[in-house]
Amino acid sequence: MFATAGSTVPQTNQQIGDLNEQQQQHQQLQDEESTAQHQQTEDLNKQQQQHEEAQGEESTAQHQHGGDQPIGPDSEDWNEPVTADEDFLYSGDENGPDYSYFNASVEFNKPNFELKIGKKFTHFTKFREALVEWNIREGYEVLYINNDSWRITAKCAKGCSWRIHTSRVNRTDTFQIKTLKGEHHCGREYINKHASSTYLSRKFQEKVRDDPNCSLDGIINDARRRFMVNISSKKAYRTKRKAREAIKGCDMEQYERLWDYAATVRQSNPNSHIAIQMDRRSIEERATFQRLLYGLSALKRGFLAGCRPIIGLDGCFLKGPFGGQLLAALGRDGNDNMFPIAIAIVEAENYNSWTWFLKELITHIGRGNVVLYTFISDRQKGLVHAIEELFPSAEHRFCLKHLFENFKAKFKDSELRELFWATASATNGDDFKRALNALEIAQPQNGENLTAAG
Ligand SMILES: [Zn+2]
Repeated sequence: MFATAGSTVPQTNQQIGDLNEQQQQHQQLQDEESTAQHQQTEDLNKQQQQHEEAQGEESTAQHQHGGDQPIGPDSEDWNEPVTADEDFLYSGDENGPDYSYFNASVEFNKPNFELKIGKKFTHFTKFREALVEWNIREGYEVLYINNDSWRITAKCAKGCSWRIHTSRVNRTDTFQIKTLKGEHHCGREYINKHASSTYLSRKFQEKVRDDPNCSLDGIINDARRRFMVNISSKKAYRTKRKAREAIKGCDMEQYERLWDYAATVRQSNPNSHIAIQMDRRSIEERATFQRLLYGLSALKRGFLAGCRPIIGLDGCFLKGPFGGQLLAALGRDGNDNMFPIAIAIVEAENYNSWTWFLKELITHIGRGNVVLYTFISDRQKGLVHAIEELFPSAEHRFCLKHLFENFKAKFKDSELRELFWATASATNGDDFKRALNALEIAQPQNGENLTAAG
């Protein structure tokens, strides 16, 4: 065995000194190799599956499993089956091997990262992940000679001399790069089989979460820009679908943990108010999530101590896979900045959900005994009704921003728009009458509208 292993004979002094030890290891590895024979056949089906997966769903699947035929002129050297000799850690690098563990969260954030001989991985899947990432970033494709839980060997798919071999360290889960030799002379691969839809869906999860209806062209362009790979619209479609499924699965898990989350918030932020309402149609049916109000104690104290007794209310749509709406209550602090008081997730903006939200909000912050609150909102019918019913003596004003949106849609004249704001921001009765008068002269119908609104 040793005689055939010309290129892997240890060369540094230290390694020659360690020859005896290596011989022992060698024996051990051979033992391991033979005991692993049946494991290897067991792994074969799995391996084939993995291999097919790795081939990607693209038409690059011409490289059939077992069709491990090299293409380049120098490739015959690399067409040999992997030998146990390769399990010796041989470093051609003058700095010597790097025995540290590979940290994906650090390495993947670098523009470029290196695979180094001696580098350890906590699990074989971590190595596989790193190899795929490295191949896509560098634009290479590899063929797997071995690809299982105890050794992974890969070589350049185009027949260059580049070859990597990793295996387990002392039968632990730890994987180590034992051999890394040769070089790539092939050009960058723009249709890269390693950039599978599963790989891309992980990378595009954030994009799909932000915009679940993002276009396939957007994904194709982003893949080209970020990973320098060309993908078909079919692959872009699968990428998007898988990303959405993953987000949905992830969100479902998160919903299941809401009770634990609420308990933790109550414990770490005493006097916070977290209300969860479940929806159950019949006694046999499993309850599902309906509403959540999230009010932190510190925000409540801040609102009561430093804000005017004015509460702004509004809702917006949630873009996630489950839809729903986000309701928010905001105050204004001494510097005229927005101050959040509480938020809620509800099924939709209507009379029932607003009533529930306002009741929970008042339970949290108290009724405002000294001064009554003034509410500001748009003219959402359910909300108007809920405020009238719950706080008959409270003031309710409509938000100028919302009024202006309607005004803008109706009147395009910029002079009229200026007059609108002059009327709205008048600080005393006389100024208001004067500005309203000017608005009425410019457009009689408007003044009436504003008076009615405000
Ligand atoms: Zn190559």
